[in-house]
Amino acid sequence: MPRKTVPFDLDLVRRLEARTPTPFHVYDGAGIVRRAEALNAAFSWCPGYRNYFAVKATPNPAILEILKPAGTGADCSSLAELVLARRAGLRGEEIMFTSNDTPAEEFVEAARAGAILNFDDIGHIDFARAALGGRLPELACCRYNPGPLKEGNAIIGKPEEAKYGFTRTQLFEGYRMLKERGVKRFGLHAMVASNERSESYFVETARLLFDLVAALSRELGIAFEFVNLGGGFGIPYRPEEREIDIAAVGAGVKAAAESILAKNGLAVPRVVTESGRYVTGPCGWLVSRVLHVKRTYRVYVGLDASMANLMRPALYGAYHHITVFGKEDADPVEVCDVTGSLCENNDKFAIARPLPSVKPGDAVAIHDAGAHGHAMGFNYNGKLRSAEWLLPPGGGEPRLVRRAETLNDLFATLVPPVRVAETRDLIDS
Ligand SMILES: *Cc1c(COP(=O)(O)O)cnc(C)c1O
Repeated sequence: MPRKTVPFDLDLVRRLEARTPTPFHVYDGAGIVRRAEALNAAFSWCPGYRNYFAVKATPNPAILEILKPAGTGADCSSLAELVLARRAGLRGEEIMFTSNDTPAEEFVEAARAGAILNFDDIGHIDFARAALGGRLPELACCRYNPGPLKEGNAIIGKPEEAKYGFTRTQLFEGYRMLKERGVKRFGLHAMVASNERSESYFVETARLLFDLVAALSRELGIAFEFVNLGGGFGIPYRPEEREIDIAAVGAGVKAAAESILAKNGLAVPRVVTESGRYVTGPCGWLVSRVLHVKRTYRVYVGLDASMANLMRPALYGAYHHITVFGKEDADPVEVCDVTGSLCENNDKFAIARPLPSVKPGDAVAIHDAGAHGHAMGFNYNGKLRSAEWLLPPGGGEPRLVRRAETLNDLFATLVPPVRVAETRDLIDS
């Protein structure tokens, strides 16, 4: 079975711990940039290709900044994400605003930033127009939900049960409305799968979109500037799973564009994507220390991290591989549940996982925590969210890109305020 490895060792963990105690996330900047470049290479046939990194996956401006030289933009779905994208220096059409159930002020801020508005619903066209004082930006995009035309997957569900997007009929009406209201430039978007590793799934989605581009262009006399394939490129969380062949996806999308559009005399729009997980997921690790090993009806390895730092296993039953530092080559000797300390029995990083002999004090790395990891954190049970470290793409000293939360951060919004003596290392504060 292929092995999952960690690109740093216990010595580095000790150095980071000297500044901020475990748990913390560590991101491999070089790996992140490499994966962004792999996406660029897969779509290099397409002039103007851009990946808009889904900010929600790893909402830290330091990540957006290291991706900028690769031409990566930002896909934002909220005001906070827009602010972070702007702070990372992204401007105008380098930002895609793909939101749903959108508040008026978020359309206003997105338009003010010059971001591309990607409408989730036909009703949002006039809602946004009113919020914007009667004028829509000259470029707009609509999100398609193919409903029963397309199979879904476990995370995003069946398209016809998903809250996102326009029906096919609504798209024809929606673009007619946009055209009537002065929009001059058009994009079309769909995102129907999450963590999908089948290449053909994405090629099929592209075919659906290119067919629609042909039909919409013919019926409405509009030209499409781009097709946004969304995100959802999956990663191998399990050691035995294989990587998606992203080059094959790119080649398949190219062939689909040629057979559906170019051969029928239609211009091939720019293809863009909104991938988050593929770029950062495999390049982040949650590093934690073992606090206790408890033997009752099962063996429980209790960590100093909890689902507050990584909730995918509890939320989706997701597999995350675990490496014990210093025991990388040791054979598994025991089947364990690896837990956090929340008063929730689903606060487990692994269930019935064969592990080498684990002792209190051992350091572990939980793999594939670079996307939807820290980002999904929360404070239930008063658990504090962890620090984030970035190993810079060009080498050099690790950069602390988020300090750990403190009790005073957690209590800051109480009325009346509660303040305590600082109980954690408050570096950089
Ligand atoms: C979550 C999301 C993405 C990114 O998904 P990944 O699985 O991280 O690639 C892109 N676009 C939209 C609209 C999303 O909701």
